[in-house]
Amino acid sequence: MKIICLSCGHKVDLGDAYDDYAGQIKCSTCGAILELKTEAGGLKAAAVTRERPLEESAAAAPVHEPAVRRY
Ligand SMILES: [Zn+2]
Repeated sequence: MKIICLSCGHKVDLGDAYDDYAGQIKCSTCGAILELKTEAGGLKAAAVTRERPLEESAAAAPVHEPAVRRY
């Protein structure tokens, strides 16, 4: 099934596996996390859980200042 992302408005193709589903999916276009509930191929409820993912790449790579010694 396909849904419209609540955050960016793009179509998200979830496939047949999500015709009966309750949980979170991630929009492949904007990265928003959507809380979905579908039943028999129809959308029952949808809400944006997180508009944008945290900047995980930046958080995972902390900047270390080089230790410079001056004599
Ligand atoms: Zn989106």
